[in-house]
Amino acid sequence: MSHTRPHSPGHRAVLGSLALLLATAGCQKANVPATGAADASKESQRTAAPVAKAEGSDLNRSVRDLLTATCEHKIPMYTCDECRYEVGVAKAGEEMFDPAQGGKLATIRAGSRPLGGGSDSNGEIRLNEERAVYLSPLAPGVVRSILVDLGVRVLPGQALFEVESNEFRQAKADLLRIEAALKLAEATATRERDLHEKGVCPRKDVLEAEAALGQTTAERSAVVGRLLAFGLDQHAIDQLLVGGAVSQSGLMPVRAPFAGTVLERSLSLGAQAQPGDKLLLLADTSRVWVITTVYEREVAALLRAQRLGPVQATVSVAAYPDLTFKGHVEQVGGTLDEATRTARVRVVVDNPDNLLRAGMFARVRLLLPGASGGLTLPEQAVLEDEGRSFVFVRAAGPYFIRRPVTTGRALDGWVEVGGIEPGAEVVVKGAFLLKSDVLRSKMGAGCAD
Ligand SMILES: [Zn+2]
Repeated sequence: MSHTRPHSPGHRAVLGSLALLLATAGCQKANVPATGAADASKESQRTAAPVAKAEGSDLNRSVRDLLTATCEHKIPMYTCDECRYEVGVAKAGEEMFDPAQGGKLATIRAGSRPLGGGSDSNGEIRLNEERAVYLSPLAPGVVRSILVDLGVRVLPGQALFEVESNEFRQAKADLLRIEAALKLAEATATRERDLHEKGVCPRKDVLEAEAALGQTTAERSAVVGRLLAFGLDQHAIDQLLVGGAVSQSGLMPVRAPFAGTVLERSLSLGAQAQPGDKLLLLADTSRVWVITTVYEREVAALLRAQRLGPVQATVSVAAYPDLTFKGHVEQVGGTLDEATRTARVRVVVDNPDNLLRAGMFARVRLLLPGASGGLTLPEQAVLEDEGRSFVFVRAAGPYFIRRPVTTGRALDGWVEVGGIEPGAEVVVKGAFLLKSDVLRSKMGAGCAD
């Protein structure tokens, strides 16, 4: 161990092992012996005392400036075991991050705050249930034609298959019959009223004729209702009547209600088809649902975040290990599962290339935003020196550099930060160890000069 001075008891053990791992040069030039008691008081003064003039602080210099500086040993200063502290750099090898070796340090990518501290939850890809439908004829019949193949994309209104339906044909015939009966009833009622006014017929005949007209009108409404239920619209019904004769065909096309892809098809020509049969599954797969769960204790944070705007989410599936799909939370379930104490959360993910398929197992990460979508970090990542906040960001390889940040609101152990780029690798766990190392070494160099 190269340090010549003991440290405060609380940090001594951990700093001792850290110093070895960091390969620090420490205060090599300092050779002034000191008693333990005197040293302890000096140590506390150091912690509180300014370590560098503000204008000379590495926190005021650009990363580029700091990383291109050369030290008296004619090497890049940040790589120099003796001088790197002057540019606010600490060195930490990968072993420091290895959980198997104690894992004194850990980093996080600066970004939106992951729910639950960043652990992914399980989920499943589902069809967008608002845009997926099993199609069947609206009246029982016989399948007469199949117009689309599996996997085909279809347009709204496109005919997918046709069923010949006796009920449909009968309804059309009924319309024609009723229409004729209605005309007759209207004429009869008019004539009876006319005759009654001339005193030829009793009022009773008028009332009977008007009752017959009312009944026929009601029957016509019922037939029109059946035709509407079979998928004809009022315009099509009017066209049937204008034509003077209702077509004798009972052929009913089954049409796509929206643009989508044919995902399932169990149709055979000549087979009987009933309303409600699952003959063809049409789904709009350009967006899919991912159903996941959050724990009861996280529901409140999720709902709070939702009020600020859509909560972003990332989704990954085993089929595409290199891809991350982006989506947002669309719905948080209103009830908790009593057994697991979790709430169901629906994430919607754009799926333009149709890579995500219903039934795929997914890993889901929900990201809670900072203010105006800013970055958030765990509070322990943010350190202070002379009243300024900073974090350690990985600069190159094992070298981590101090960078000033501004801080915003803090919530649930996380704090909003400004001043670093999204995706920057920031030391979270053990950041204070790097801080101690830099400050101690700066002091060491300073006290010897
Ligand atoms: Zn040097």
